[in-house]
Formats: sequence, C-alpha cells, structure tokens
Amino acid sequence: MVYLTNSIDDRILRVAQHKAKKKHECQICQQRINKGESYTRAVFIYDGYFASNALHNDCAANQSQFAHEQSLKE
Ligand SMILES: [Zn+2]
Repeated sequence: MVYLTNSIDDRILRVAQHKAKKKHECQICQQRINKGESYTRAVFIYDGYFASNALHNDCAANQSQFAHEQSLKE
C-alpha cells in the first residue's frame, strides 16, 4: 500500500489490540511483550515513514495520542 499525504503532521492510521502470536518488543519501554499477551498494535506515519509498532496496552494508554484512538473498536 502506498499512502500519499499532503500533510507534514505525523498521523495515526490505526490502533488495535491483538493477542501476541509471538514475542514482540514494546516500542515505548523496550520491554518484551510475551507470547499470548494482549498488546496494542499502532500503525502510523511518522516523519514520512509508514510504521507499525507493538506496544504494551499500559504503555499505549500512557501515550495520549494512542489512548485516544484506542476507544475506537475494530
Ligand atoms: Zn511497554
């Protein structure tokens, strides 16, 4: 998918909770997200780059921009 934006703002495309099928590393606290644990997957544009990050639910909740989007159900 190629996403073209005329905005220079960083933009969150999608935030959803998943159950980890394998280990992930939280992008906020750098700690491990264990297999089977519920975690937050955030897809966003940062500085022109398309990125998909795994985050602990608690870490995501502490980031206001993610917490806001989390209220949206899949
Ligand atoms: Zn974390």
